[in-house]
Amino acid sequence: MAVCSQDLTPLRQTDEDLRREQQRQIFFMESLPGLVFHIYRDNTIRYANRYFRKLFGSPKGQPCNELLKCNGSDCSICPPKDAMDNDKALEKDWTAPNGRTFHVQYSPMTDSSGERMVMALGIDITARKEAEDALLKARDELEDRVRQRTKELQRANSQLRAKSINLVKAKKRADAAAQAKSKFLANMSHEVRTPLNAIIGMTELAIGSGNDEDRREYLDNVLEASTSLLSVLNDILDFSKIEAQKLSLESLDFDPRKVVGSALDMYRPTAEEKGLELFCEVDEDVPATLRGDPSRLRQILLNLLGNAIKFTAKGSVGIRAENADPEDHRHILRFSVTDTGIGIPEDKQQAIFESFLQADDSVTRKHGGTGLGLAISRLLVDLMDGQMTISSREGEGSTFAFTAAFDKASGEEVCHDEEPLPELPKLNILLADDNRLNRQLAATVLKERGHDITSAENGQEVLDLLRAAKFDLVLMDVQMPVMDGVSATRAIRTPGSGVLDPNIPVVAITAHALKGDRERFLETGMNAYVSKPIRVNDLVRAIASAYFGREGREASARKVLAGEEQTFDRETALSLLDGRVELLSMMDGIFLRDTPKDLSALEGALDSGDLETAKRHAHSIKGSSRTVGAVKAGSIAEQLEYQCGKGEKQAAFDSFASLKAEVETALKLIGAEQDGLQGGEDEDNSGG
Ligand code: ADP
Repeated sequence: MAVCSQDLTPLRQTDEDLRREQQRQIFFMESLPGLVFHIYRDNTIRYANRYFRKLFGSPKGQPCNELLKCNGSDCSICPPKDAMDNDKALEKDWTAPNGRTFHVQYSPMTDSSGERMVMALGIDITARKEAEDALLKARDELEDRVRQRTKELQRANSQLRAKSINLVKAKKRADAAAQAKSKFLANMSHEVRTPLNAIIGMTELAIGSGNDEDRREYLDNVLEASTSLLSVLNDILDFSKIEAQKLSLESLDFDPRKVVGSALDMYRPTAEEKGLELFCEVDEDVPATLRGDPSRLRQILLNLLGNAIKFTAKGSVGIRAENADPEDHRHILRFSVTDTGIGIPEDKQQAIFESFLQADDSVTRKHGGTGLGLAISRLLVDLMDGQMTISSREGEGSTFAFTAAFDKASGEEVCHDEEPLPELPKLNILLADDNRLNRQLAATVLKERGHDITSAENGQEVLDLLRAAKFDLVLMDVQMPVMDGVSATRAIRTPGSGVLDPNIPVVAITAHALKGDRERFLETGMNAYVSKPIRVNDLVRAIASAYFGREGREASARKVLAGEEQTFDRETALSLLDGRVELLSMMDGIFLRDTPKDLSALEGALDSGDLETAKRHAHSIKGSSRTVGAVKAGSIAEQLEYQCGKGEKQAAFDSFASLKAEVETALKLIGAEQDGLQGGEDEDNSGG
């Protein structure tokens, strides 16, 4: 037998090596920190490393879909199947049922027994995935934020643009207004200077002239210039009153035909002088009486007529009045003033209604004027619920038309401006005005009418005189030093004031008759008032109204006397500050802060006999008390100020006691009011 011997040592050696190699591989796979498993075509996993087993348990005896909880999905799309079928390695992310995500590499190969299988190697990428997801989310959020911020910026940008456009517009308007105002000032100064020059020049001539006839002519010119100066000032006052909404219309029964007629009459002489024809047409259906403000209606007509005549060299000027809307429950009248004058260029037709503007604003313009007439007229027409329109052609003429609403006449007696002057008996009048010229003028006029006149320069002198002698009536300027007319009247009406006749009629003379002033004067006990400059007829009417109205008033005056004098008048204080509550509250603050100091300084000064200093502090207390409406404290302080000025030490001491009590009451009251306000604000703050 042939013995074929072969040395098996190398073979055994190879087997041994192989086994060792396999062991090394298994050891390596077992210790890997990732998934390793072998999956076969029959869906069994025949090897899984420790990492796998720890997560999913032992694969033995279980089909892979059960083991991996593959919830029965289509095995044909399973990546190991894919790798096996197509015999190619592939990589896929796989999220296991426990929620962790693996990046798995599937490699088809043949096992040691020659069977095809897929070896899967997976590493846990959950943390990376989460980080990536978070990053993506953050990026999306960032993009959202950027988008939103961009939108906001765009919006802010367009708001800013709109604002700056508005600012530019406002600046342009302000510039135009400033320009118009400075033109207006230059104009106004011219309008005021012209008559003033005439007044001064003519007066000098009159003084120097020995001839009565010349003198009369000069004085006629003075009167004419003064009247024109007054109308300029009235225009300015009217305009500011209307703008500040301080002008209210009267409500009187009147005859519209008379108003139109008297307006035309005013200009008849000028029209005749210029050779202009004047005409007037009032339709039949314009009622004979209406209720409204005849003087303001006449003022509008006079403005329009004045312009029409001023700007017309030849031809005619006239007024037409018609019933604009017979259906309306009020009477709507339409007035038109027509002329055949220079006309107004179309591009100026709106601007001339603006205050201070004129169609011809060149320095060389032919016609004077303030440029306020039309602005005032239009504001008045607004107040009468009407509208003003203009139609004009350059070189041919203009028509200014306006509507105005009136009420039905109430049946009261129709107002007649030219009522005969009332007859007054000879009166003993006490006249108080700090201005010597005004005093002299009123005294002369009244003396000429047979009255006896005694003069005083301030309210305190009025009180002293009324304590010493009987008078029939007081003519009282409102603004005077030492003691003003309102305080003096209050003092006269106060019980125990020592005046012989506390019911004596008082007529106020005032430079400013604004809305509310009338009520204020009458409320303090004045009986009538006239505005400066004083027109003789107005003065006589006011005196008559106060003097003859006395009897009817006695009863109510007695009521006032029996009652307490008013201590506080916060309402008037507020109205004096134009109704601005925040201003009053600021003044209250100053009053609370400064008045106690003033009061103790006043006491100190009185104690040391320094009446000059005491007077100063009394003056300051007077002002601040009145500002906050502590009227009684104000009156006592005023009295004290006067007493200090006169060196009446004992009287000043006496007044101080009552002043102190009054001021302390005021401090308490206003302090409490402020606290109330403060409390309210605090609540607001905590709420917001
Ligand atoms: P003024 O006091 O300067 O006349 P107004 O406000 O009454 O002021 O008028 C403003 C401007 O309107 C006048 O300066 C003038 O240029 C123009 N105007 C007014 N009325 C007429 C008119 N009837 N004909 C021509 N221009 C007129």
